[in-house]
Amino acid sequence: MSDSLYVCYKAETSGVSRTFFALSSSDAAERAKALGIDAEPGQIQRAPWGDRFSSRGSVPALLVLSRGFSVGCAECGALIESTGAAVLDSDDPYCSVACSKARDAKAQSLDSALKLGVERARELWPDAEIVNAVIIQGRPRIHFTYGRARHAFWFADADMVDISPTDKAEWLEFLGE
Ligand SMILES: [Zn+2]
Repeated sequence: MSDSLYVCYKAETSGVSRTFFALSSSDAAERAKALGIDAEPGQIQRAPWGDRFSSRGSVPALLVLSRGFSVGCAECGALIESTGAAVLDSDDPYCSVACSKARDAKAQSLDSALKLGVERARELWPDAEIVNAVIIQGRPRIHFTYGRARHAFWFADADMVDISPTDKAEWLEFLGE
């Protein structure tokens, strides 16, 4: 049994056949629309063979394709209907080597943006303790503590540091202002 409440649905239209996860049949109709699938209510049905992947969020592309369904390219969104030119060896499917490489390059630049953000935080606040550094919606965010273990969050591409309003005096003191 999966611990996820989502179950697998399939939408079979004349144009596209996709699988996706939803909470209920009405939820499935909305999600199909959001995915750009123009399906009549009768064209959306349960696909129990995909249920065990619900906590993963997607059915493995090879399994989907082997059942005659399509998957969307994780980079450009193009529909992949056969294994042909597709790159399917990672978690996300890509329609071509070019798309897979484009994604790799993006991942690398995010990774270096993250490292740069951490370096910059260490320069700006040498006494801060960096707790975590993650990419959120494409932006590096550094979480650190200062003073008496107060928490601060900083998007490395912004000027503002997010601190609790009640910690303002301590923050200024920490900055030596
Ligand atoms: Zn693509």
